[in-house]
Parts: sequence; structure tokens; C-alpha cells
Amino acid sequence: MSQEVSQDMSQPTESALQGLMMDVPLLTSMIMKHAIAWHGDVEVVTHRVEGDMHRYTYADAYKRICRLARALEGLGLMPGDRVGTMAWTTHRHVELYFAIGGTGHVVHTVNPRLFPDQITYIVNHADDRVIFLDTTFVPLMEDLQDRCPNVKCFVILCDSGAMPETSLRGAKCYEDLLQAAGEGDYDWPQFDEKTAAALCYTSGTTGNPKGVLYSHRSMTLHTMSACTGDHPLGLTSRTVILPAVSMFHVHGWGVPYAAPMSGAKMVLPGPHMEGPDLCRLLDEEKVNYTAGVPTVWIGVLEHLEKTGGKLPYLKIMNIGGSAPPLAMIKAFEEDYGVPVVHAWGMTEMSPVGTTGRLRARHAELEGEDMYRVKLTQGRPIFGIEVKIVDDAGKALPHDGEAVGQMYVRGPWVAAAYFNDAAATEAAFDADGWFGTGDVASITPDGLVRISDRSKDLIKSGGEWISSIDLENHAMAHPDVVEAAAIAIPHPKWEERPLLIVVRREGSDVGAREIRNVMADRVVKWWLPDDVVFVDEIPHTATGKISKKDLRQQFADYRWPDI
Ligand code: ADP
Repeated sequence: MSQEVSQDMSQPTESALQGLMMDVPLLTSMIMKHAIAWHGDVEVVTHRVEGDMHRYTYADAYKRICRLARALEGLGLMPGDRVGTMAWTTHRHVELYFAIGGTGHVVHTVNPRLFPDQITYIVNHADDRVIFLDTTFVPLMEDLQDRCPNVKCFVILCDSGAMPETSLRGAKCYEDLLQAAGEGDYDWPQFDEKTAAALCYTSGTTGNPKGVLYSHRSMTLHTMSACTGDHPLGLTSRTVILPAVSMFHVHGWGVPYAAPMSGAKMVLPGPHMEGPDLCRLLDEEKVNYTAGVPTVWIGVLEHLEKTGGKLPYLKIMNIGGSAPPLAMIKAFEEDYGVPVVHAWGMTEMSPVGTTGRLRARHAELEGEDMYRVKLTQGRPIFGIEVKIVDDAGKALPHDGEAVGQMYVRGPWVAAAYFNDAAATEAAFDADGWFGTGDVASITPDGLVRISDRSKDLIKSGGEWISSIDLENHAMAHPDVVEAAAIAIPHPKWEERPLLIVVRREGSDVGAREIRNVMADRVVKWWLPDDVVFVDEIPHTATGKISKKDLRQQFADYRWPDI
């Protein structure tokens, strides 16, 4: 069993005979050097914050990354210093990833959608010395800069001559900085591959955000994995990828590293993540691969339905970050002919842990049998070990029935949180496995099925109801655009599910019709006791349904008949 293998791995024995292979450190600078050596002519296309399109090649990108590396030298940074970015998914942000990490500094991607208090917390906790930010975030940082006294200067990602009026400390223009840095190759330093390369904070659904500090080694290994066939990304030099994922959400799921490693063309949406913009890019750039959270795809589906649009070039759609409803998977597969690959992961896992790429025996399945597999979060990718345990920490069988807390380990899984002993203490078990906070079952052939985040499960009469399942089945009703299930206290059952629904525009579908559709799919006692209709469901800083906000919003909710 995997657990036994891991026990052995956790205690490396002294090697009897050392291998005679080169000890080349795995550094992120290798990735860009490879891209310009062999894929220099491949394009990186950006829908800029400014609104226009920008295109250049990896060779062009590399020249600017070298300039940026030189410019960083002039900012008085020490090795290991954290450099913050507050930026959209753009070519400039890609340049920052490589220049900051490659020079031995740490790129800290600040999620601008966090609450202002959380932003100041993470900037101070990370001890960011410089922050590079898009013009969009200038007013926000102007408000917060006095609470972040260790940030020496702010660099605004704008064209020369387009600097906004700003009170930001030591404000500089990015393009001017690059221009002044001078041309020529950069002599990338060699250092220990375990050196930190990047820092990302979880969105802090409970308590303060927690920092995950990635090393060059973990990043390079995660990226190499992303370029293998069965990985949910599985990039190759023939891929044209549009990551519909913000680069402040676990480094765009690794795409900005994996695309140059594989020589894939990258199409970056900037801040323009609405359905019409994404559909235009998918079409005009002949994108054959895309990845994002379900919320983004709701927008895309709505736009396609309205306009009668098609997705002629897409070969794979990777959906993860939260569970895609079956109705969404079917819509892409059956209405638009795009196979969906489901994936699961998290900030602490760099982020990818499982892949929904079908094995030969699953690829032969048809109809509902195939969808049953696609609805699972898939199987662990090479490098990731998984186990589920009961409340006493005892390993549960992988029989597809037992449901328990999911733990993971692997070379790109966090070993601790950054400067946060209490959070670290709470998250890891005695053997060093990381507790994901997700509750799951695992089938004998390794298909992981996440029932819920443990804090989102609904406890009714001593039994658990999966909010993910309820949402999924509610979305089977064609007039349900988005649905969220939360636990509401109940005098008899402890908790019961409340379903919160956004209806399709113009629809007047009622609770009864939705419950009827769900009744065909779930046991009776799982059915929500009430359905509430809202115009909008709140989302987290990473675009997922925010159960925390919903719980607050419905804190005063009372069951109708009680
Ligand atoms: P956060 O959303 O907290 O900022 P992450 O993006 O790291 O941080 O979220 C990770 C969590 O998202 C996982 O622990 C899991 O609960 C959820 N998640 C990710 N992918 C999936 C998926 N395919 N299905 C269900 N839940 C998922």
C-alpha cells in the first residue's frame, strides 16, 4: 500500500554507492533559457490591461527578462528578498516571475482581491521590499502603503510616458526601468535548487492567509510534470494555451512556467476574464487548450449560448479549483465537442495533485459511465501520494466507499507554512503528511472523489451531506446558473442544507422544480429543506463560491416552518 512505501521514503537510508550523474540544480532560469534556445520564435500574446493586444516571442521575452534582472540589481535587493507583484495575467507578469526568481529573489504574487487587511497582512508577513503593480491597483496600494512601511518602492507596470499621477513611495515606471537597464544576456546565478523561488498565500477562508514558499526544485519538478502526457495540463510544443486563471492564483496553475518549458504558445487574458473576451481570444488565437475555475466557464457558456458561438479549435478544457457540475461538463463535451479534464489541487500543492485524463479502460466508457469517472477529481499524478484517514488518524481503505480526511505528500507539496508555526502544527500529521482539509474517498484504481471541504460538509442527523453533490445536482436544472449549498442549524437534525440559487435571466423556476430534478439524483434526506433565489452568489478572491460569505449572509436565516 502507498502508506507503507511512504514510511520507507521518509527515512532515506545511506546510499551504498553514489550515482555518477551531473548535479545540475533545478532552477527556474533553466526554463526560460530552454525556451529561447529551442522555441524562441513561439508567441506570447497578451490582452493588455490597457485594452489592446500585445504579441512577442519567447526570444523577445527573454531579452526583457535579462533587462529586468539587471534592473532588480539596482533596487538594492538582497538574495532571498521578497518582491511582491500585484498584477494580472500578462507578459509583464511572466517577465517578473522569471527575473525575480532567476536572480535568487522570491516572487510573491499578492492576490489583489483579498480584503485590504489581508493584503497588508501578507505584504508585511512576506516582508516585501518592492512591489510591482498594474495601474488597476495603484489606488488600492496608495491607501495601504502607510501600513506597509518596509516596501521601499513601487514599480508601476505601464508604458513609458503613461505613469499615472500617484503618491506611491518611490514610484517608478516599469518600461523606463527596463529601458535604463541596458541590453544583453544576463549571467543567471547558480545556487542551491532548494532556494526559495516564489511565495503564494492561501486565500484565508479561515483566519489569516498562510504562506506557501516554493523552491526552485519544487517549481521545476511541478513544471516538468505539467509537460507530461497524462497531466491535466499536459503541454507540448503543439499546444496553444490560454490560462483563464489569474497569475496570483497559485502562479496561474503553473502555466507560465510550463508553456516556455514545453514551447507552447501562451495566450494571456490580462484582466479580461469575461465570457465575450475569452471567447474572442479562444477563436482569434486558435487556442487548443485552456484551464480555469468553473465560474469562468459559466460566463463562457452563457456567452456561447447567447451568440450561438462555437469552440472549433479547443481540444481540451481543464476545469479545477472547485468541482465542475455535471451539467457544465456535458455542455462542453456534447454541445461544443470539447473534452473536459477535471483536476484537483491547492496552493499547498503548487497546485496540481490529480488528473482527470482518462486511462485506456476509462476512455472506452460511454455516456453516464464515462461521466461518472469525469466527475471524480481523477487520480494522483506521479509524485503525489494520497491517503485518507478517519478521525483517529487511522488509514482508511481505497475501496471507493470509505470517506475520510485526505492527506498528501510529494516533492511539490508544502512541508510547512512560511513563518507560521501554529498553522504548520495544525496542518501536518506526525509522519509529515499534509492535511488538505478536504474529505474524500478513493476507489481501488485511484480515482479520488472529493465530497467537500471538511468545513463545508453539512451534518444532518449524525450523517454527512456533500454540498458539492447538492450543487452539482441542482445545476442539472437548465435554469440554474449557479447554486451553492450551506449548512443551517436545525433544532432536530443539527444542520440541514439550504440551497442558494442564481436563476437564468428571465426564468421564474421555483424551488419545487429544482428539488424535483434533484430528487432523481440524491437520496431524499439530502434534498435541501429550502431554496433561496439571489441575483448573485459571492465568490472568493480566487473565483470560487465563497461559503464563508454565504454563511454570514444567511446567518439570520430561519427555516420557514420552524
Ligand atoms: P483557496 O481557494 O483557499 O485560495 P486553493 O485554490 O488552494 O485555495 O484551494 C484549494 C481547495 O479548492 C482544495 O482544498 C479543494 O477544497 C478545492 N478544490 C480544488 N480543486 C477542486 C476540484 N476539482 N473539486 C473540488 N474541490 C476542489
